[in-house]
Parts: sequence; structure tokens; C-alpha cells
Amino acid sequence: MAMVMAAERVTAKDYRVEEAIDWCPGCGDFGILSAIQQALAGLGLLPHQVAIFGGIGCSGKAQYYTSAYGVHTLHGRVLPYATGAKLANPELTVIAVGGDGDGLAIGAGHFVNAGRRNVDLTYILFNNEVYGLTKGQAGPTLPLGLQTKSLPEPNMQGQVNSLMLALAVGFTWIGRGYAYNVKQLTSLIQRAIQHPGLAYLDVLQPCPTYNNLHTRDWYAGKDREDQRPRIYDVEEEGYNPIVPAGASEDQLFGKVCEFNELAHQWGDRIPTGVFLENRAVSTFEERIKERIPTYRAVPPAQRVIADEQGYTNADLSSFLAEFTLS
Ligand code: SF4
Repeated sequence: MAMVMAAERVTAKDYRVEEAIDWCPGCGDFGILSAIQQALAGLGLLPHQVAIFGGIGCSGKAQYYTSAYGVHTLHGRVLPYATGAKLANPELTVIAVGGDGDGLAIGAGHFVNAGRRNVDLTYILFNNEVYGLTKGQAGPTLPLGLQTKSLPEPNMQGQVNSLMLALAVGFTWIGRGYAYNVKQLTSLIQRAIQHPGLAYLDVLQPCPTYNNLHTRDWYAGKDREDQRPRIYDVEEEGYNPIVPAGASEDQLFGKVCEFNELAHQWGDRIPTGVFLENRAVSTFEERIKERIPTYRAVPPAQRVIADEQGYTNADLSSFLAEFTLS
């Protein structure tokens, strides 16, 4: 996480912009945006210390609606952009945002390889099970056999369990929030940012325009006889997500079993909260520093790469000597 400037008082207002927001009324994206702004302000981070990278889709506009640095990237490529920025400037707080279609379909390969590196950044997935921007086709998290209102037939493909995928490929912090529980979501985003390593936050995000199945009322359990909300917080029920540094194989296996159970709960009980906080794995930045001891002191973003006229000051002599024709 970037250095926190406690001296200046930062509020969520500092992260708001005048830009007109063009999400549909009632979209869960509003709750996530508000939680991001409150989380960053709550950590005392100033907008210039934060960079938000957005994928393609409705959620990929979130970075336009904050005053932090924002980059709109290519479809499915948000994690490589965010990774590059974090490695070039490790002092920056880096957040990647995108939808389930962006991150788990076309972007699935990058999701997998980001997990292998464990770079210190936060990936927030706006999970609404549909491609909202392109009129509601089935997204990779829509369960097999469900038919949202814009599908002519029930979904013929199985769903990606992104929590299990994140665990399998090496994300070291994994959690789930709900777009309309902004208080809990703010805290989850803060904990994801503070985790030293790659954090994945799956956010259940109702899309009132195209997903008529998993709606705000459905998550609130209004269709149930007992009217009980489907969503609950695992930590309020005593779950401990931490794998301590130096954990034994048995400890790790035990946590994986508990995680597996949570990641497959759906229907009348849907868990939220932090499912895994693995402190036993080194970050990519730590691994780089072992090879390049000056990496943190002079990271790539602070290296002088050109003279005042703009000519490169890279020393290519040994490279050129090797390729000079005799
Ligand atoms: Fe939100 Fe769905 Fe509208 Fe996109 S289409 S802005 S996800 S409600």
C-alpha cells in the first residue's frame, strides 16, 4: 500500500468529480463507487497517490468518476496495466476495476497469471452475471440453466466460481462484498488495499436493467417466506480468514477446506466478508528486490531515462558491441 498522508484531512468529497454519471438508476455500481471513495479517504490517501484502472463495460467507467489518476484500458487487460503501474511505482496505491465478463472471460488468462505474481494491488470485480453494456448477454458468472430477461433461452454454459479460481491461482487476499452494503464494502476495500499482496474482491452488483433474477429484493430475501436476507457476514459468525506467516501444510489445508465450503454457498445463504488473508507468501515486489536491491529506493518510475533534450541516456554500448558487424 502507498504511504498514507495522515497530516492532511481527506474526505470522500475529495474523490468526487463533476462528471455526469451515466449508469442506469438503481445500478449497484453507485454503491461500489461510493465505497471506493470512502475507503480511500478513510485510509488518508490523497487522490494523487492512487491510480484506478478500469476494464471495458459499465464498471470500466468507475475511474472517470473519481479524482484519482484513472486509466481506461483494453477489454480484459486491466490487470496487466495495473501490474505494470504498480511495479513501476510501488508507492502508488493501485486498484483495478472491471466486470465479470471483462475479467473472467476475455481477461481470464490475465486473472490466472496475476495470481502467480502476487503484486501488491487490489482487483475489484463488479459481478452482475451479465454483459450490461452490450444489452445483457450471459456473463461468465451466470449459473447454468438460468434465463435473465434478455436471454432468448436459458444459459447453456456453466459458471466460473471466481473465488475458487482466485484461490487456485494464488491470490493472497480474497473476499466478497455486496454493492448495497456500502459500510461493509468500504471496510473490505480498505482491508484489501492494506493487504501486502494481490487482493481479489468479488462484489455482488445487481444490474436492475438486465438481471431480473438476482435483484436487490432477491438478495434481501423478499421472495422468501421468512423474509430473511440471503446475505450474511462470515466474520460476524466467527470465521477467521488468516493464514499466518510460516503456516504449516496442515493449517493451510484446513483453511482451504473452510474456504471451499464458503465459496460454494449460494441460494438462501450467501457469504460475504474476508474469506482468505494469506500472509505466508512473498509479494512480487519482495522477489524483485532480492534480485535488484535498489528497486524500492529507485523504482523504474523514478529513474532518469532521458537527457534535457529528450535523448535516451540508456547505455547501449555493450548491446551495440554485440551486434556490430565486423
Ligand atoms: Fe448498471 Fe446494468 Fe445499467 Fe450497466 S446496464 S449501468 S450494470 S444497471
